[in-house]
Parts: sequence; C-alpha cells; structure tokens
Amino acid sequence: MMQQYHALKREAEGCLLFYRMGDFFELFFDDARQAAAILDIALTSRGEHDGQPVPMCGVPVHAAEGYLARLIKAGCRVAIAEQVETPEEARKRGGSKALVARDIVRFVTAGTLTEDALLEPRRANILAAVCEVRGKAGIAACDISTGRMEVEECAPDDIGAALARLGASELVAPEDWASAPDNAITRPRGDFGSDDGEARLKSVHGVATLDGFGQFTRAMLAAAGGLIAYLDHVGRGKLPLLLPPVAHSGSAALAMDEATRTSLEILQSQQGSRAGSLIAAIDRCVTGAGARQLADDLAAPLMDAAAIEARLSLVHWLHDDPLLRADLRDVLRSLPDIGRALGRVVAGRGSPRDLGQIRDGLAEARRLRDFLAARPDRPQLLDSILPHMGGHGHLVDLMQRALVAAPPTDCGQGGYIAAGYDAALDELRAMSGNSRRAIAAMESRYREETSVAALKIKHNGVLGYFIEVPARYADVLMQPDSGFTHRQTMAGAVRFNSVMLHEEAARIAQSGGHALAAEEAHFEELTAQVIEARQTIAAAAAALARIDVAAGQAERAADGGWCRPAITQDNCLNIEGGRHPVVEAALARSGERFVANDCILSPDDRLWLIGGPNMGGKSTFLRQNALIVLLAQAGGYVPATAATVGLVDRLFSRVGASDNLARGRSTFMVEMVETAAILAQATTRSFVILDEVGRGTSTYDGLALAWAAVEAVHGTNRSRCLFATHYHELSRLAESCDALSLHHVRAREWRGDLVLLHELAKGPADRSYGLAVAKLAGVPKDVVARAKSVLDRLEKGRAETGGLAAGLGDLPLFAAASQLQGKDADELRDHLDTLDIDALSPREALDMLYELKRLAGSTQT
Ligand code: ADP
Repeated sequence: MMQQYHALKREAEGCLLFYRMGDFFELFFDDARQAAAILDIALTSRGEHDGQPVPMCGVPVHAAEGYLARLIKAGCRVAIAEQVETPEEARKRGGSKALVARDIVRFVTAGTLTEDALLEPRRANILAAVCEVRGKAGIAACDISTGRMEVEECAPDDIGAALARLGASELVAPEDWASAPDNAITRPRGDFGSDDGEARLKSVHGVATLDGFGQFTRAMLAAAGGLIAYLDHVGRGKLPLLLPPVAHSGSAALAMDEATRTSLEILQSQQGSRAGSLIAAIDRCVTGAGARQLADDLAAPLMDAAAIEARLSLVHWLHDDPLLRADLRDVLRSLPDIGRALGRVVAGRGSPRDLGQIRDGLAEARRLRDFLAARPDRPQLLDSILPHMGGHGHLVDLMQRALVAAPPTDCGQGGYIAAGYDAALDELRAMSGNSRRAIAAMESRYREETSVAALKIKHNGVLGYFIEVPARYADVLMQPDSGFTHRQTMAGAVRFNSVMLHEEAARIAQSGGHALAAEEAHFEELTAQVIEARQTIAAAAAALARIDVAAGQAERAADGGWCRPAITQDNCLNIEGGRHPVVEAALARSGERFVANDCILSPDDRLWLIGGPNMGGKSTFLRQNALIVLLAQAGGYVPATAATVGLVDRLFSRVGASDNLARGRSTFMVEMVETAAILAQATTRSFVILDEVGRGTSTYDGLALAWAAVEAVHGTNRSRCLFATHYHELSRLAESCDALSLHHVRAREWRGDLVLLHELAKGPADRSYGLAVAKLAGVPKDVVARAKSVLDRLEKGRAETGGLAAGLGDLPLFAAASQLQGKDADELRDHLDTLDIDALSPREALDMLYELKRLAGSTQT
C-alpha cells in the first residue's frame, strides 16, 4: 500500500494527498501532521515505515467538504485519490490480497473551486496565469465557477497593478521566470507557449479562428495557454466551464495601482475584511451574481463616457421608479445562482438540483424579459441586454417537462425525473409500485393463512424484504411445510423468507435499478444540452447580474440621497455636498452626522493644499472625492448633492508613513517608492490624493520632499490633486504655484477644548492644533502643559531668529543638559539617542520626562 501511496504522492507534488480508504480520506506522514494541526483533529499512526510509526489522520468522506474548505483557506492544495475499482474487481484482477487501484481524480485548489460550500456567494473566485513574452507581460484570468475568462497584456512593470485589479486567489507562472510573483505556483515553461495557447483556446471553444472573440497578442495567448494547461492538470483532463476570453484593455479602464486599491479600501478594508470597505457600504444587490458584478465594476471603472452613461441611465430609470425597482428586486431575490450552477454542471460536478436551478433561473429570466420589454422609455442598455434573457425557450421547456419541481442534489436515489416525461420510466416505476402493492396484499394473506395477526413484511438494507413474527408465534412458520424459510432470530422476533416474497422483491429491485439507470441517462442528456448552451446561459446570467447591480445602485442612491454624476471630458472635478459613504455609515451607527463638503477643481485651480488639525477630517475628505470619481466611472450614483466628474485616466491614493513593515521596507522607503510612481505616471487627466506624504521622516526631510512633490504634481504632471498636510510651511507654495489653492478643515477652541467641525474652508489653517488634539486624545494634562511651554519657546525662537529650532537653546531642559559634565552627560546623551519619540505612549513619555529630570540632577519632581 505504501508503494501505491508514494507513487500517488509524487504525482501530487506540493499538495496534501487525500487517500481514500473505505469511508475515510486518510493523510500520512507530513501531510498528516500539517492537516491535523490546521483541522485540529487527532494525529494517530498506522504501521511502520523505515522502523518509524507512520503518522496518520483522516476525515470522513461525507464531511470532507468542510475540511477541504478549511485546508484551502489555510493556503493548502489538496489532491484527491479515489478508489477507481471495487474490492471485487481488485480480487478478480489480482487475487485475494490485491490492492484496490487508486488514482488522483481531482486537485482542489483555491482558484479552481466550484462547490457552493467552498465559495463565497458574493465574491468571484479568480485563477490567474502570468508570463512574459518578448518584453511584454501576459495575464489570463478566469472564474471557473462561472466560466468568465479574460486576458490582458501590459508592461512587465504593471503586472502588480493588473494583478491587484483581479484579486486572484491562485496564481500560476512559468517555473524558470526570474520575475515571477512570489506567491505564484510554478508550472513547466512549456505550458506557456503562445502557439499552444492559441491552439488550446481554439479547441476549448471548437473554433478554427479566434477572430470572432477579438484580437489577442502573443503574450495574452501564452498566458491563456498556461492557464488552460493548469486547469487541465488540476481537473485531470476534465476542463471546467470557460467562456470565450475577453481582452481587457488597460486603457479602457481607470487605472489604479495596488497601493491605491489598498488605501481606498475598495473591495476590502485594510484589515482584509469586506466589512468597512467601499463595496460593503454600497452593495445592495439581491443576488450573489449581482454582488460579484458590482465588485468587477468597482475594480475596473470605465474610461468610456458613453459606456458610463449607459450604465447611469439604467440606474436612473430604476431610481426614478421605486415601484418598478421593488418589483424587480423581489423577482431577482428569488433567483438561483445560475452562473455557478452552470459552472458545476460543465465541470462534471453538476447535480439534478443544479439543472433545476438553471431551469428556474432561465424561466424567470424569460418572464423578466417580457415584463421589461413591455415597459415604455426603456434605457438603451436594457435593450441591448434583454435579448440575452430569453433565448432558451426550448431548453427551459424540456427541463420543465423532464425534472421534478425540486430536484435533489444527489443522483443516487433517483426520483428527479418527472412523471410523464418518459413512458418507459413511468412503466418501471409502475412495476415497482405494483410489486409494492403486491407485497402489501401478501402481508394480509399471510396473516390469514397463519392466523398470526402480528405478522409483518418489512424491509431493511441488509436483508431486503422479509417476514417477521413475534418469537412466540415462530413455531407456526417453522413447520417444514409452511412455505416459509427461516432467516434470522432476534431477541423478540423471528424473520422468514418465502418464494413469493423473494420473487416480488427481485422484481422491485430490478425495476428500481432500471429506473435509476433510465433517470441517469436523462440526466446525462440534459446535462449535455446545458453544456451545449453554456454561452447563452452564461449571457443570461450576466444580463440578470447587470440588472441587479443597477437596481442595487438605484436603491442605495435613493436610500442615501445620492445623485447622478455628470461625466465630461474636461479636467475638472466639481463635487457639491460630497460625503464618504463608509465614514458616513459608521457615524450614523453611533448617531452622529456627517458634514458634507465641496470639492471644486479645474485646470486653473487643480491642486488643493489642505491643512488643519489632526482628526479634523482631511483624510476623509481626500478619500471621499477619490471614491466619488471611482463610483461615477463605475457607472453608479455618488454620495453628493451634485457632481460633475471630468474623466480620470489614473487614480492615485497615497498615505504617508503607512505602516508597511510587513513588506520588509521602511515606511519612509515605501512612501517614497509610491510617490515616485505617481510622479512618473500621473497625467493631466489623473486624480491624485496625497495624505500627509513626507511624514515618515524627520521634519526637514519630510517637509522638503513634500514641497518638491507638490511642485512636481502641480507643474509637471499637472494632475488634479488634493494634498493634506500638517506642514504649515507648505502654505508658502501658494506664492509660486498659480493653480494651487489653500484650504483647511475648521476647528475651534471652546473653553479650552478643541471642537473639530469637519468642515472645509478656504485659506490656510490659522494655526496648529497639535496640543489640543493631544489633550483630546487623553495625553496627561501635565505633559500637555509641558509641551505648551516647549512650543511657546520654539515659536518665540522662530519669531526672533527665523530658525525653526533657534529657540531650543533657551529651554531649561537643554540648558541643564549642556551644563552637565562627564558620565552624566554621556548617559543623558545615550538616553536621548536611543529614544524613539514616535513609539512612546503618553504614559511612557511622562515617565521619560521624570527620568530625564533625574539624570539632569534636578531634585524636584
Ligand atoms: P485627519 O485626516 O484630518 O486626521 P480623518 O479624516 O482621519 O482626519 O477624520 C478623523 C475622524 O473624524 C473620522 O474618523 C470621522 O469620525 C470624523 N470625520 C471626518 N470627516 C468627517 C465629516 N466630514 N463629518 C463628520 N465627521 C467626520
């Protein structure tokens, strides 16, 4: 057995091997250790290998899905080795000791799931392949749970951004490629040939040329080849649902790099959850397919004004007709997820229920089409998608006749093909029905004949049909000429057989077996027809999803008082009464009100420098405007009272000193790398938000870099830009940059306390509110008081000499230090050298002040 195991294990390289033994999947050696730890199940052992006990753990086959889900989530891949012959077959083949043959029937990996239980209904599950051909990067991606596939070509430098848009859960790349992304699974180089890729695509879709699908570059074809080869490997030769590839053109979509996506928290928050993200705040879709489409829309907002307007008009139509919207959403809500049901059917893992779902979904789509087609003033987008919703009349009719109303997930028991669909099947069922009635009649007859009123004919899985009487009447049936043969003696009962019963039972078994086989044949036939129609079924699913997205957007807009944005080609951004959907929702939960703010940018006033106290609302303002641009170009309403959005080609969002140590670079380094990317890529059509850039280093460096970055964005990139900063000094830029204006978030001190108004106003921030913010944050009173005296002196020094630190010489603390001698002075200096002020808690800062005072020799504390 171990020999067979090791052979399979070699085939399953990089995967945990689920080795089927009876009702369990067993894991051995390191696989067992790893899985037992992740699944928190008992690690046992079985036999010995090289004199050592073999570690083992197992999961029951019937519960395997749940365990698989956890292993996949933990980043594992799993190979499933099934028994491919019965023990009888094995014995026939190789004698009584023969081992049952096993084979890997499937690999379960994060990117190749189709089971509902393993997938999130509202999220696409993307598998991507990436490679490089003659200096160009090719990316192919698919969601096999719905069959959607797309390919893209980009510069090798843009791979990160392209992959960030896709958010793949599994990535494959050629094995010998030096710049393969770190998290990629490597596959043989030969899988990524462009000629092979083209041939594979043609054969998958049964076409002689790909021209009908669009134009594909060598790099795209090579990546597609790698993707299909991997799917072929994982599915052991059985390919999942793949729709014709769509070429994604980077220039057709609003470009955002990875840092921007992360910082704007579009599909997930910085903590990695959906909660707290933009999509969580706006998603009102009533179907999983709608939610997945919305995520796609937000991940790749459009650049084409006409396409945006088409989506907006549909939202508008549904927004202005609440009754229609409510009706529509009611219908959509009850729809099964036909896209995913189709994915399972094509992957060979479909069940009668999946067919039933496709049938019901398509029937509903047809009704919806008729309903919508009858409405006047339809928006044009609807006219272009309605035809996809009704082209399956024949298939729906067929499945309505063939399948029962609620088919089961399991074929094994039969009973899913409807009565009246197949006369032969009906007859088989009637026969077993007749036999069952015959057995019931037999029971009464035997009772009369034996005078045992308690006689019963029963059925169980082991004996089949049998006659049972209480033990005290057993003698009657034991008589040699009674016609009954003894089968089993139980505690209180004895069981018998009879020739007549045996014959009738055989008839039931036979007709039942034939009926099952007949049902299976119909199931296969229906499955084949569904697979044949996969493209049109997928198109219907996509049409329904598009309508759901629009209805959900309309609902969200109506709910929140959002507006339809106007889209223009000018480089302007004109947002009145803008709000941040996520912050607003969070505030609403605690009963607070969000303060709306305007943002008016034009070529002559394109860069706003925004000052004001910490916690005043600067970041929120920056992000809300970026999100409004994104929502508008995704074709939805926006959280504002009025908005005109000049099409943006690239969106950049950067937050200074964001803690990115996990990636192994210092925060300041990250900040500069990201700033460099903006300065290199932003155009006059771009929109840039920079939040406290320059904060990750010492005051002078940071100020200088922030200064230079603002100048460059203003003068060279000429992008629209919002720049939030606490550096007062940057206000001076207004003197040299003519399209730059100064703004601040308002705050007021009231009876010694700081009141943040979260309101944007024109002009520079009048002063810094750092100390008031510190007080607000709970820094101890005496520390704030001490800081106040430091500040006063700093400001005095600056006023007198013009130098930032000129006032410091006067400070008692430093004055005392300069008088210290020898060891004490060294100790104090060491102390100050090792001090990381940013890392101190207020309490530690206070302790430090006491300590410094002690070192300085002061006796008073
Ligand atoms: P800053 O960037 O100036 O430090 P933030 O934008 O992070 O400030 O805002 C701090 C907090 O203030 C937010 O978490 C939110 O609770 C609140 N806030 C921000 N903007 C607004 C607003 N427009 N209306 C109401 N509350 C706001």
